[in-house]
Amino acid sequence: MAKMSVDDKLGLDLFHTDEHNPHITVNEDYDDMEEIRKVLLACPAGLYHYENGKVTFSHEGCLECGTCRVLSIDKVVKSWDHPMGGAGVQFRQG
Ligand code: SF4
Repeated sequence: MAKMSVDDKLGLDLFHTDEHNPHITVNEDYDDMEEIRKVLLACPAGLYHYENGKVTFSHEGCLECGTCRVLSIDKVVKSWDHPMGGAGVQFRQG
């Protein structure tokens, strides 16, 4: 069996997105660039962006790893919880 890359493995995951209830919210106006850089660089799904002086974020595609919570709760990350019943990521390759 051929060895799969991380991107290939992630591509097999299924996401059941609750579009009306984001499980993570961010402080869009947070302005400490050191903190912002942490989440920009650390999120394995690349869901954080910084554009026009604002942090932008989409919870769609979140791997629920908790990295952004550990790094920046009450800073860039305003709130973090697991998605509500049945929603969220379903891993296919570990
Ligand atoms: S929980 Fe993980 S994948 Fe989801 S937004 Fe935070 S760092 Fe990214």
